[in-house]
Amino acid sequence: MRAALYRCAILHSRNRQMVEFFSDGGLVVEGGRVRACGDYAHIEPLFHGVPVVDWRGSLLIPGLVDTHAHLPQLPAIGAERADLLEWLQQEIFPLEARFRDIAVAERIAEAFFRRALASGTTLVAVYAPSYEEATDACFRVATQYGIRAVMGMTLMDSNAPAELLAEPSDLIAASKRLINRWHGTNAGRLYYALTPRFAGSCSRELLKECGQLAAECSVHVQTHLAESPGELVWIASLFPEHPNYTSIYDRAGLLTERTILAHCIYLERTELARIQEQGSAIAHCPASNVYLRSGIMPLSDYMELPIRIGLGTDIGAGFHASILDEARTAREVAKVRQMFHHSGSVPSLAEAFYLATLGGAEALGFGDLLGDFSEGKEADFVRIAIEPYRSLNTAQQALEYALYAGSHNVIATVIAGVEVWQSS
Ligand SMILES: [Zn+2]
Repeated sequence: MRAALYRCAILHSRNRQMVEFFSDGGLVVEGGRVRACGDYAHIEPLFHGVPVVDWRGSLLIPGLVDTHAHLPQLPAIGAERADLLEWLQQEIFPLEARFRDIAVAERIAEAFFRRALASGTTLVAVYAPSYEEATDACFRVATQYGIRAVMGMTLMDSNAPAELLAEPSDLIAASKRLINRWHGTNAGRLYYALTPRFAGSCSRELLKECGQLAAECSVHVQTHLAESPGELVWIASLFPEHPNYTSIYDRAGLLTERTILAHCIYLERTELARIQEQGSAIAHCPASNVYLRSGIMPLSDYMELPIRIGLGTDIGAGFHASILDEARTAREVAKVRQMFHHSGSVPSLAEAFYLATLGGAEALGFGDLLGDFSEGKEADFVRIAIEPYRSLNTAQQALEYALYAGSHNVIATVIAGVEVWQSS
């Protein structure tokens, strides 16, 4: 692949608090990776002769990372119910049962990945349907679209309609076959995640077998934790032998360095300490949490801990396509928490941007490869048109624009130096 020098405004995170911004920047991409990033006036003489792609009038940011979404739930966006458990039973389970039909799985997978790329998402951690063949179809479609995905068949053996359940041994056997077929494929863009839905729909046996398989195969694990008050009461009644919710996953061997725990709204100090010890990550899904009246995760408290945190759209309880919208929502719900609960602080623009990019990549275990424009990283980026009445001269202005107007202005998405989506 030939080298190219992109000329445009460039914004990326250096760490949780700091961003770097070049109003007239240059990004050199070669062989699908970042060679250099800096002021155009500084970069151009060093790479004289490399063809310049003139994208002035655009803002370039790293590929966005969605750390939690449900592919089969795309058609349910907006289907509101009183709370999580009612929503699952009445809206979600009947919908997910339709994915026995491969044609449904293919059609929704195409729409899901197209929508993700059009929103600038280059890496997504996603729950596939509860059927092996449908999960195969989702991986095939992800391969065609070239998106990076950590994905797995949603596993359930209890407390859901019979057509969505299977025996633990069958679910584990299917997961093994799927790992063999898909883990690490498409030039390292696709990874498998063991996906026990949550303790409410998984028996002790299933959770334990998932923990054993995760250790054997070194694959990701994704599940839900401490999402809603009603769920907490129910889970405590299902697992009375455990001191808290986190302990259920912990004792099953499911808290690993490759584990992504969605929501984590109601955690005690000891649970957070255990998550931290085990190196598991949290997917914060603020829009979904308000939508289902679940609660507000104390993000600013968690960000003081050495726990990796990313943002999740949580489609379909979440309704945002773009993780930039989720980053903005994370700030807005933190303001609500401050106003009404008089607690916590509001993440800075730089922190919210970090969560949407580098923080998400780190949460999913790809911090060395993705998330910013350090030399040698994969060249995943999003081209955002700058509205003609805005001027981006400072990092502050660029952050304000990216988080509060960026999602409406995505015009191209690039993965490993290749354009995988552009607006028509
Ligand atoms: Zn979810």
